[in-house]
Amino acid sequence: MKLRTTLSTSVATLALGASLGLVATSSAAPGGLRPAPAPPEHPTSVDQIQNIDQVRTAIKGYYGDTPTDQVDPYAGDGKDVKLHTFAPDSAYAQEVGDLTAEAGKYLARRVAQPQHLEGRPAIILDIDDTTLTTYNYEVYSNFAYDPTVNAAFVNAGVFPAVPTMPQLTQAAAAQGYELFFLTGRPENQRPGTQANLTGAGYAGPAADHLFLKDQTLPWLSSCAPTCSSAQYKALTREHLEKDLGYDVVANFGDQPSDFTGGFADRTFRVPNPMYYLP
Ligand SMILES: [Mg+2]
Repeated sequence: MKLRTTLSTSVATLALGASLGLVATSSAAPGGLRPAPAPPEHPTSVDQIQNIDQVRTAIKGYYGDTPTDQVDPYAGDGKDVKLHTFAPDSAYAQEVGDLTAEAGKYLARRVAQPQHLEGRPAIILDIDDTTLTTYNYEVYSNFAYDPTVNAAFVNAGVFPAVPTMPQLTQAAAAQGYELFFLTGRPENQRPGTQANLTGAGYAGPAADHLFLKDQTLPWLSSCAPTCSSAQYKALTREHLEKDLGYDVVANFGDQPSDFTGGFADRTFRVPNPMYYLP
């Protein structure tokens, strides 16, 4: 809580900061990552819009698209479709690795100065495309969201870990951080979520360390029953800091809605070019 101004980190600002000897402090983009500029909402020329098939191809190139023998868990399609995954030497894995390396140094530095902590040190982790990669689902669905198909993937627990994130969380836990998972997934997806996290290499979070979007939670009363993701997440971080006495030292997410509303000393934005949740 000491560092009320949100510090931001991304691979882009890291590279710049390293070359200039600066600490990354940009707050232009929540979480710091600077995706390619979005096209205008109301283009006046086709020249302002990326071709959607070329964007899909670029996304697959970024993840190092790799077919697997694992079949899709959705029974409703009546067939077995082989899932795809990312490559360990992809640009995606490289950029996440750079981010977790920087985060690891930051977390070690902060916990070594307990006099500067305003509570028990804690870390917040979003799940989809922050701790678990949904690339296999996105390719299966051709990057179109379908809640029924998505739920089949979630409940089957088929998402691999975001590379290097399990190791980062294990190191943080060993240093004394409490790890809290904070996801917009609904409460009825708790068993699949818990099993997927454990299977992907995360220490299985206790029930009170895994927050799913249950709008009857008492600290959500100011926005329930229509809390946005951003409201739900910010109010839960506030609950951890104000009611439970934690200092949220770092907040890891992949979407703007993971970061708005404060209650984190620093944010880390994991790259995700596949969808956008403001
Ligand atoms: Mg996410």
